[in-house]
Amino acid sequence: MRLYINDVAVRDGFQIEKQFVPTATKIELVNQLSRTGLHKIEVTSFVSPRAVPALADAQDVLAGIERVPGVVYVALIPNVRGAQNAAATSRKPDEVNAVVSASETHNRANINRTHAESLEELPTMVRVAHAAGMKITVSLSTTFGCPFEGHVPEDVVFSFVERFHDMGFDGISLADTTGMANPRQVRELAARVLERFAPPNETFYTLHFHNTRGMGLANVVAGLQAGVRSFDGSIAGLGGCPFAPGATGNICTEDMVNMLEDMGYDTRVDLARLLAVARRIPVVVGHDVPGQVMKAGQTLELHSPPELSN
Ligand code: ZN
Repeated sequence: MRLYINDVAVRDGFQIEKQFVPTATKIELVNQLSRTGLHKIEVTSFVSPRAVPALADAQDVLAGIERVPGVVYVALIPNVRGAQNAAATSRKPDEVNAVVSASETHNRANINRTHAESLEELPTMVRVAHAAGMKITVSLSTTFGCPFEGHVPEDVVFSFVERFHDMGFDGISLADTTGMANPRQVRELAARVLERFAPPNETFYTLHFHNTRGMGLANVVAGLQAGVRSFDGSIAGLGGCPFAPGATGNICTEDMVNMLEDMGYDTRVDLARLLAVARRIPVVVGHDVPGQVMKAGQTLELHSPPELSN
């Protein structure tokens, strides 16, 4: 079965790094990731450079990368202004990704909007993106729990998903922003969303997990069982959210690919190439990273047995 793997490290991962990752390094990493068979690469964000200085070079990154046919290049947009800025760049992203949080408190913390304000703004973002020839998806942050409000009622999630369909979004990402989801919850909620709001294609719904509490890959399997085919990860397991306390670590893309390929799924990703990129990340960010397969090697990377002593 074909699955779709997206990498968000250059945006979701680098935005919390204390040390600025040079633009040239970001471009080089995107170019390398482009040749690994990934479906989408989230390359930057049109946020205020004051709010997220790490991503102030959005235009330069988009202008500098080589676009490999078949790969979808994505930029995050927090508001209408972000959509307009993305639309005005000389080399536009193929797709922009709007964000709204299922929890009102997190929405205010993350994008400084009430739910009412977000819902009013989103249709304009869809119009701006489509008028510029870009696809637009939306991420529902804190779908599976909010670090400020706790449990998020399923009806809140359903009502957002329904509105997103009506607004004409090209895809919806259900995001576990701070790693609060568990596999049973994911399987049940994702199955209900798919049943109530049928997707027009198999990449319409994406699951975005953080491994904050070690349940990330188990949640991927649960999402698969529910029928979701598209998953976000972050190379080397980089990531977090600057506006949510303790929100470390997206699930690691190459660990996810290793697991899915071992399980017999077709991710189209060249794991050896992806691992080669992952192994550069600790040098780029200057610290250890959570990725495990990059340290252990692929499952069937065999070792010669220790020599027997007589
Ligand atoms: Zn995230």
